Amino acid sequence: MHEPKVTEHIAGSDKALFSFELLPPLKGQDFSAIQQAIDPLVEFNPAFINITYHQQEVVYDTLDNGLMKKRTVRKRPGTVGISAAIKYRYGIPVVPHIICGGFTREETENALIDLNFLGIKNLLVVRGDPPVGMKTFIPEPDGNVHALDLVRQIAELNRGHYLEKDIKNKRTTDFCIGVAGYPEKHNESPNFESDLHFLKKKVEAGAEYIITQMFFDSKKYTDFVKNCREKGINVPIIPGLKPITSRQQIISLPQTFHVDLPEELVKEILKCKDNKEVRQVGIEWAVMQSKELLKFGVPGLHFYTMGKSDNIREIAKQIF
Ligand code: FAD
Repeated sequence: MHEPKVTEHIAGSDKALFSFELLPPLKGQDFSAIQQAIDPLVEFNPAFINITYHQQEVVYDTLDNGLMKKRTVRKRPGTVGISAAIKYRYGIPVVPHIICGGFTREETENALIDLNFLGIKNLLVVRGDPPVGMKTFIPEPDGNVHALDLVRQIAELNRGHYLEKDIKNKRTTDFCIGVAGYPEKHNESPNFESDLHFLKKKVEAGAEYIITQMFFDSKKYTDFVKNCREKGINVPIIPGLKPITSRQQIISLPQTFHVDLPEELVKEILKCKDNKEVRQVGIEWAVMQSKELLKFGVPGLHFYTMGKSDNIREIAKQIF
């Protein structure tokens, strides 16, 4: 099965594409967990489905003597396997995320070889956040430090350059590389200028498209696109949208993703009696944003599902 690249899809379509992001099932669940999220969205012809990558988390067990024992655990393994299962069961292109965190460069190369054998063409390349319970990102010894380094490693493999120089009969890979962009700036960046500088470097190193962090004010995206274009970042920039689903997200989303929620949206959420009503507000806000973005002219609309798609279906019914 020929897997179109995200960029080929964009170039070959006269309409904005529909795509969405899923999390691999929690350890202990099976494929049906992800099927429940995909099935309601298939009729809207998703151009691609992204699958996030989750590195290990630090957890503490309480021992019989009351002391705590630290251990690491991966709660959502299986990004590569579930991506391949989706690709082959649904015939929809997948975009597994690949991260720097937790991988040496050799482990990264081996993961890329697996992905290549599986016929997966599209990747979203990110650094990864510091593991839950830690403040700073720490790469593996001999691991990639920034997404830029990982983009460079994949671009090298696309040119047939493996880590070991004396490999014989070297085949090239043909990965289409996407990277993350931040309309409200990445939280570790000292300023916008610096963030755009490194975003441009990722594009110069081989990134062919950008997917943005969520934002709730469409002007943040349109300003970001204008700034990117002025800087000479000319690849497609796909906006990422997250419909709000609970009142608690007024606090958790700004904390976790470093984004602002507009006053009007917060007011509407605070008026809600329960999370069912909040979910409806989230749908209406995302529909409004989608319409604004389509008017501006976007290559696609990419939705963060967090594993539940009933609300995305309601939005897609009104937009696609
Ligand atoms: P980088 O591009 O490395 O940037 C990180 C910071 O360093 C920025 O402030 C940047 O300006 C700066 N910087 C970049 N390059 C350099 C350099 N060479 N020298 C100095 N400074 C530099 N996380 C996951 O764990 N799994 C996922 O599946 C996942 N998917 C995501 C999908 C999207 C669309 C987005 C927007 C984010 C995703 N994340 C994911 C979160 C992401 O890993 C974090 O936001 C992370 O903190 C930064 O990743 P990045 O790729 O932007 O990093």
